[in-house]
Amino acid sequence: MVSAQIVWSKALPVLEAEMTPISYKTWIKDIKPISIEGSTLILMAQSELYLTSLRQFYANTITDCVNRANGSNYSVNFIIKEEAEAVVSVPVSNSTEKGLFFGVQPKYTFDTFVTGESNRFAHAAAVAVADNPASAYNPLYIYGGSGLGKTHLLHAIGNYVHELHPEFNICCVSSEEFTNDVIAAIKYDTREELRKKYRSLDLLLVDDIQFIGGKEATELEFFNTFNALYGANKQIVITSDQSPKDLPSLQERLKSRFVWGITADIKPPEVETRVAILKSKAERDGIDITDDALLYMAEQFNANVRELESCYNRVMLYAEFSKRAMIDKSFVEAILKDYVSSEGKHMVTPELIKRVTADYFEISVEELISTRRDKRIATPRQIAMYLCRTLTNTSYPDIGKAFGGKHYSTVMYSCDQVTGEIAERADIATAVDDITNRLTNDLSPM
Ligand code: ADP
Ligand code: MG
Repeated sequence: MVSAQIVWSKALPVLEAEMTPISYKTWIKDIKPISIEGSTLILMAQSELYLTSLRQFYANTITDCVNRANGSNYSVNFIIKEEAEAVVSVPVSNSTEKGLFFGVQPKYTFDTFVTGESNRFAHAAAVAVADNPASAYNPLYIYGGSGLGKTHLLHAIGNYVHELHPEFNICCVSSEEFTNDVIAAIKYDTREELRKKYRSLDLLLVDDIQFIGGKEATELEFFNTFNALYGANKQIVITSDQSPKDLPSLQERLKSRFVWGITADIKPPEVETRVAILKSKAERDGIDITDDALLYMAEQFNANVRELESCYNRVMLYAEFSKRAMIDKSFVEAILKDYVSSEGKHMVTPELIKRVTADYFEISVEELISTRRDKRIATPRQIAMYLCRTLTNTSYPDIGKAFGGKHYSTVMYSCDQVTGEIAERADIATAVDDITNRLTNDLSPM
């Protein structure tokens, strides 16, 4: 059900990061996604010449990046233009036995979602919708600040409904993916297929709707999709960083529909919930950690579960290095000493972060905000974007602007990337630590 365009557009940044700029430009840039047949992604090469080399030298890297980017298990096949014209796009399945299920991440389930005062209502509404799609609340609109569990709840609904109704067609997209889908449909003149695809759904989950604002064609397509699904009594769930009425750039007619069902907000978790989140993670990971160590960690991060998790991962990483069997407060304190926010945190600006990060990696700010993709420049850039997001209140689009006009999706991708790497790579974790330290301890060059 997911379109080849979406799968490919997700793979591109991963390929770009993986390959040298020259080989990316030569081999990858001009590939056109054609279709998905079963579990095979069909890609079109420019010519016979490219076809041979792609198959011979790049197929493994491409397959690997496609699957890493999409959390999928596709194989990849290449064709040339003549063959592409013969490929008829795969019709939307009408099968009632097994529905289409895509875009939902299996790791986010209700089981692993910890509830407390701050998210109780949103959680209850999500469960109600998952239990009774299209009859409890439609649409369900969940909103709240970054890192508070919106995406988690959205995917949990998808997983739960899929388990209960394997015959349902379920799709989870970010508004960016929806936008890409619309752009691709316009470009390849496949708007009809796009409509068929979205309108065959029983459950549509859309993450971060705020990002479709201001894109006229996308907003119109979404408006029509919404009306079609709602009219056919199909469930829609939407998340956003703001309440419908506060969405600045969306059209009124769309906003007014978002409140037809129910809106539920998630607030930053209280300290008890933060401790419970850490505790449930530690239990799942089989980690022995004292209560005062959990409380100490929970007290350092009050506004964002993502940061709390990132701190937890860091502690676990150090514990693994030092082969600690039991984690206590003094151990956590020692690790977080340089990491937790200090008074100076509020003074940190994107400008300062760019300067300090460039200085740390011994590159220039110009290089840092350039479009160069070699790792020597790209990794510091990703780290600097991540720090802007975690140490300042700058939005993704504004961070993009501060880095030479990058698209917000690039910033989001970078932040996710660094969040993941901090837990897995000691060199990245150390760099983030050291730079944070310089920034918050006023050792930074002004
Ligand atoms: P948002 O979409 O609101 O920015 P996410 O859903 O991506 O936030 O949550 C960020 C991280 O925090 C995820 O790894 C998620 O699993 C975790 N998380 C957030 N809230 C909870 C919760 N109540 N219980 C367990 N994990 C949570
Ligand atoms: Mg999210």
